[in-house]
Amino acid sequence: RSFLVWLLVGAAALSVLVGDAAESVAILIVIAINTAIGFATELRATRSMEALRRMASVRTRIRRDGRIQEVDAEELTLGDVVLLDAGDVVTADLRLATSAAIYADESVLTGESAPVSKNAAPMAAEAPLAERASMAYKGASVTRGSGEGVVVAVGANTELGRINQLAQAAAPLASPLERRLDRLGSRLIWLTVGLAAVTALIGVVQGRGWIEMVETAIALAVAAVPEGLPVVATLCLARGMLRMARKEALLSRLSAVETMGATTLVLTDKTGTLTQNRMTVARYLLDDFDVDLGPEGPPSGVVDDPRLIAALEVGVLCSNATLSDASPDKANGPPQPIGVGDPMELALLFAARLSGREPEAIAAARPEILEHAFDPDLKAMATLNRGEDALSLSVKGAPESVVERCARELSADGPCALTEEARAAWLSRARQAAGRGYRVLALAYKTARGEDDDPYEGLTLVGLACLADPLRLDVPRAIADCHRAGLRVVMLTGDHADTAAEIARQAGIGEGAFSVIEGRALSDFDPEAVGPADRQRILAADVFARVSPEIKLQLARLYQREGEIIAMTGDGVNDAPALRQADIGVAMGRRGSEVAREAADMVLTNDAFPTLVEAMREGRVIFDNIRKFVVYLMSCNLSEVLVVGLAIGLGLPAPLAPLQILFLNLVTDVLPAFALGLSEGDAGVMKRPPRPPEEPIVDARHWTLIAVLGGLITIATLGAFLVAYLSWEKPAEQAVTVAFVALALAQLWNVFNLRAPESEIADNEVTRNPYIWLALAACFGLTALALWWSPLADLLSLPWPGRDGVWLAVAFSLLPLALGQVLLATGAVTRIAEFASSRLALSETASPPSA
Ligand code: ADP
Ligand code: MG
Repeated sequence: RSFLVWLLVGAAALSVLVGDAAESVAILIVIAINTAIGFATELRATRSMEALRRMASVRTRIRRDGRIQEVDAEELTLGDVVLLDAGDVVTADLRLATSAAIYADESVLTGESAPVSKNAAPMAAEAPLAERASMAYKGASVTRGSGEGVVVAVGANTELGRINQLAQAAAPLASPLERRLDRLGSRLIWLTVGLAAVTALIGVVQGRGWIEMVETAIALAVAAVPEGLPVVATLCLARGMLRMARKEALLSRLSAVETMGATTLVLTDKTGTLTQNRMTVARYLLDDFDVDLGPEGPPSGVVDDPRLIAALEVGVLCSNATLSDASPDKANGPPQPIGVGDPMELALLFAARLSGREPEAIAAARPEILEHAFDPDLKAMATLNRGEDALSLSVKGAPESVVERCARELSADGPCALTEEARAAWLSRARQAAGRGYRVLALAYKTARGEDDDPYEGLTLVGLACLADPLRLDVPRAIADCHRAGLRVVMLTGDHADTAAEIARQAGIGEGAFSVIEGRALSDFDPEAVGPADRQRILAADVFARVSPEIKLQLARLYQREGEIIAMTGDGVNDAPALRQADIGVAMGRRGSEVAREAADMVLTNDAFPTLVEAMREGRVIFDNIRKFVVYLMSCNLSEVLVVGLAIGLGLPAPLAPLQILFLNLVTDVLPAFALGLSEGDAGVMKRPPRPPEEPIVDARHWTLIAVLGGLITIATLGAFLVAYLSWEKPAEQAVTVAFVALALAQLWNVFNLRAPESEIADNEVTRNPYIWLALAACFGLTALALWWSPLADLLSLPWPGRDGVWLAVAFSLLPLALGQVLLATGAVTRIAEFASSRLALSETASPPSA
């Protein structure tokens, strides 16, 4: 259906009409080769996309053979028992068997965005979908609570599957980048078709054969139209995304690549992103003594202290994690807990095991009845358990919240009233531990009056658990890389201000002095109405501690109003709105909830901050590569049009025959352009400031580069042609061969002009790119074949121009390379571009960011 193919078919038909069968066959071969390249490119791009999609597969927790395991959602089968928790996306249609205050967002199915309550009670069979409270449907997300369900339908048989089958015909959306390239291409089509037509008209007026002129015009149009741009761009993007995926960053939108190069601010969370998320309990703070936990557990003198036992029991009961039986190997440093679930909870379970209290035994003695899921605003959670003679509530959470809600504390003589001084002392101990970088959790319990007792009232405080979570070793370097690349890094965390400040200091956030703001101070702040003094203070802060998901969202809005392009990490269910608001939402592959992952543009499969920085680098490289091949292709195409157009305008014999133009276009343009698209990027990519977001793909500097390089190649080709034809008085046919060789070689050398302006002449991303050398070797061989292999030479009408003719072509072809390097080294291109854009407004007019 392509315009280009129809042009070529027209040219082939014309050749048949005038009785030149060989030429029409040659044109058909050109069509075939072109189609094959286009097809192969798209196929590769599609394959890459499919590989990416497979990597992004969803995991589900199920119980099989009595054991909890994680499987690919695609492996679910009828009868599987699926475990649901807040933050999960339901991956099959389930009949709920148990439920604990579970709510699901079913807007995908029903359009109703308010979460609906679910339970295991039977429903009337004829209840409409939206009212079937005993069912959890695929595609819904669990917003609160937990439960278990039996799979009753999978894949296409689910309610969602049925809807999807209806919607399958919808075409995939092109990314803005592809659309921009498309627009660029279609504008150029009309320009070049116009130019080609004018050239042909002039030729006919001068008395040249009209068939030859029509064919020349078609060849020029075909040569000049950068038809392949969007396809090659897609391939570049897809390959770049695969490369990112191998480095454990999965992109879910092609266009995120474009935004990444323009990102100015990274808002990162702390736990698991900057830190290793390999937690261990280092110490318990109890009412009048501290217990240090070494690799062998607590000192033997205290293991039977009822206060320590109570602390361990609350940690075990108030938990969703399962510790695995395998004993961690002690060869690699201190033993680390292994199992399924939140690393903090695993650490608490592991501390119990180290102290000789097997978590499974504790949990079996007091089975859980229901859970009050983690409340991100309160920063605490609770479970209700049935003991031998009473119901007990176990609570763990941020000390400020939990200590506030305690009426008693556990002392050596059992529970006693918590005085105001004691409360202040607890909080100050918590702050001190936080200042050393520990994550501090308060542990409390009470005897419950019933199932609907308020869990956060009248509690007895047992103690504080100090969890060590060391900084990832590679984080300080990644942060320094960000600063060099003009990216600011700000930490947003739910953790305590002192813990956050210590980790931020270790990571190097804020370069020296830095300021911390507590989320409490922002509780009712509105980015639209914030006063100038507050605005200044907020924008200058490097760490936000104890922030809630709503504050994350508001901060994202505030920064965006200031013109920042933000990348923001998140993991919880409630982070989804902030992730959607951010220009690049980044979710965590391991600890992130499915809901966050679906809202994000990027998933870090290893949860690590350095991976995000690596992905930023790749994003910049991909964008650079696309620019490089666009400039390369367009400068080559421009030279082809100018060589023929100028020669005809000047009344000279045509320096290139139509078939030769087509051959050049296929041989010398395509392969090096592909190779440029696959470059690994230059060393400077992360030393440059972010690209302005409104900057077009081809800006004033690139238009200038295209014009200058295209002009130089034109001069070299016409120069070689004129010397051969006029001063050496070779026959016109041989002069054409000289022009052909000069143009082919000049275009090949032209790739070296595409290095970054500040890079070394000999050692740069172009010369280091092995694909470039492969492409050059292939193109060189094909050009030699066209010259020396007589069947091809005859077909292309390239008679032998004599050895001097070949040397002449070689000499002239080096001219654009030499001059191009001089212009790059002196910075002349940039200066011409500045001059031109100030005079001619060459660039697409930058539209102001919309409100
Ligand atoms: P972060 O930014 O460090 O990931 P979170 O929002 O996950 O912070 O947690 C904030 C605080 O909430 C923690 O410092 C801790 O006090 C408390 N918290 C986190 N997870 C749990 C949990 N599973 N149970 C109880 N409290 C928790
Ligand atoms: Mg967290």
